[in-house]
Amino acid sequence: MDIEEISKHFIHVYNRSRIFTKGEDVYLYDDKDSKYLDMGAGIAVSALGYSNEEYKQALKDQIDKLIHISNLYFNEPSIKAAGYITEATGLDRVFFTNSGTEAIEGAIKLARKYAYLKNKDSKGGIIAMEHSFHGRSMGALSVTGTKHYREPFEPLIGGVSFAEYNNLESVKALVTKDTCAVIMETLQGEGGIYPATEEFITGVRKLCDENDILLILDEIQCGMGRTGKMFTYQYYGIKPDILTMAKALGCGVPVGAFAAIERVAEAMCPGDHGTTYGGNPLATAAVCKVFEIYKDKDIIRHVNEVAPYLYDRLCELKEKYNTIIKDVRGKGLMLGMELSIPASHVVTEALKNNLILISAGSNIIRFVPPLIIEKEHVDAMYNILDRILY
Ligand SMILES: *Cc1c(COP(=O)(O)O)cnc(C)c1O
Repeated sequence: MDIEEISKHFIHVYNRSRIFTKGEDVYLYDDKDSKYLDMGAGIAVSALGYSNEEYKQALKDQIDKLIHISNLYFNEPSIKAAGYITEATGLDRVFFTNSGTEAIEGAIKLARKYAYLKNKDSKGGIIAMEHSFHGRSMGALSVTGTKHYREPFEPLIGGVSFAEYNNLESVKALVTKDTCAVIMETLQGEGGIYPATEEFITGVRKLCDENDILLILDEIQCGMGRTGKMFTYQYYGIKPDILTMAKALGCGVPVGAFAAIERVAEAMCPGDHGTTYGGNPLATAAVCKVFEIYKDKDIIRHVNEVAPYLYDRLCELKEKYNTIIKDVRGKGLMLGMELSIPASHVVTEALKNNLILISAGSNIIRFVPPLIIEKEHVDAMYNILDRILY
């Protein structure tokens, strides 16, 4: 099929050059049956790789039983999935969505409702971070820290100000009596793979506690074991008031969620929020099976085994190509390689060599492979990069 011809039927917001038809383990196959090593995992979604038998079977079984009812009734998989999430996060109540963006929308609404109940005249101010990414809807875009994503779509929701990530003083400077929430990624993804410093995140937590401001952590990308703990905030001995998750939560079935501590969750009452699909039996059956496979296969332990190897090999490349590679950073299997050249050049060359890479920002390659990746795959990736970086 001719890419230019088929592109005509789509609103042009992506630059696409391949058609993929099937996946197996950590590989994707295109329509010419050419095999690609995938270091992008559908943007940090396919943590279990492709075509996992147990996962597929769970979905097939659920399809045979019940695909959708509505949120006017309980369904069994969502009950179990909510239990898994509260257990894994230490948070008390969950709301299921269809995407990460919707989880952000819900988190913002919950924070605003909490502030409103304290003070009906609350302005619902939100402090977000520069270079953050929280999604494309009007609300999520309003707290996304990249100006060129926001500007064409203004006016967005009001009351949002932006602080500098990892600069506690810049957050403090924005706090007013109208601030209801601070929202940030625990490890910035799209913005260029920047982990929070311990000092910053614990400082923000303390600042929020002192001023009854809610801390919303977005772990849509960095959660679900990607960084070597189930959720990245667990590295810092803190807990958010509201947490958003999606991407690997369903490992391919579209599902997201936000969870909150009891005191905050209580702010929402019947009628305040809702969704037709969110948390339907098919989506939450996927969530359940994902948690079960993570446990059975000890995915987190595997991440902690293979991630240092990926990091070391990327550092080797940095030594070797020190004029092109400026930095290697990140946590677990969420690593970034900052380049002195446009990342798109490397992404394009890699694709020609059957390696799928994705960028973050204009000059950073983002490594977010399936969490089941093995050292031999890392070596194969290294060899391809070694060939195309010169
Ligand atoms: C991907 C992402 C989102 C948006 O999720 P969608 O499922 O694309 O709506 C929000 N926040 C972060 C940190 C993300 O990586």
